[in-house]
Amino acid sequence: MDCIFCKIIAWQIPSAKIRENDEFVAILDAFPACKWQALVMTKAHIWSDVFVMPNDQYSRFLLAVKEVVALLRKWLQVERIWIVVEGMQVDHAHIKLYPFRGWKSFEGGLIGSEMAKEEDLQTLANQIRNSI
Ligand SMILES: [Zn+2]
Repeated sequence: MDCIFCKIIAWQIPSAKIRENDEFVAILDAFPACKWQALVMTKAHIWSDVFVMPNDQYSRFLLAVKEVVALLRKWLQVERIWIVVEGMQVDHAHIKLYPFRGWKSFEGGLIGSEMAKEEDLQTLANQIRNSI
């Protein structure tokens, strides 16, 4: 199967994994819309429309996302993490996490939008993984 997320999960291509359990994997996104964007994906190659998941799987998915949000808040010192569930680009269930500064209004903005540096991703991913 020619799916980039399946290859990440199988370690066939490198990634900055920050959390993993039997069902889900979280990585720092190498092609972020904002700095330190993370992705949480299912290990199973299932359709990217998460709203058709069985309720129990969907609940576990969101709980896994909540754990990753806590890690990102701690390590990035941000007040909020946006979740984006659009299911586009890769046909494999995933949820994007956007670290966001501020909470009363949008003045804080996203952290940034430059391309991620592989070394930066690996450094933060190692710190988070080693703290668990
Ligand atoms: Zn896949």
